[in-house]
Amino acid sequence: MQHMGARFVMEIATTPKRSILRVVIERVKSGLCLLCDREACTRGLCNKHYVRFRTMVLRTHPDNRLEFEGDEIREGRILHPQWVREVLRENAELQTGAKAS
Ligand SMILES: [Zn+2]
Repeated sequence: MQHMGARFVMEIATTPKRSILRVVIERVKSGLCLLCDREACTRGLCNKHYVRFRTMVLRTHPDNRLEFEGDEIREGRILHPQWVREVLRENAELQTGAKAS
């Protein structure tokens, strides 16, 4: 919402879609990777899966990267960095209930 300087403004998803939201929140609280049972270290992923995500971003055309990242967030395959902090402060459920516009 605040990226007004960008050439074109695109909002990316910050939370997983509703159908998987609760599962993802529990996963984040458990401290394990979203995609395997290793310890999560960055944005809900273990080191291996985070590196794989970064690699996929780099292989995506720059114009499509935000969209790609948004899809991954909606599908619960990576977390939005700010949202992780909300979950860990236990505010996530309140937040997601409020801003569905
Ligand atoms: Zn993993």
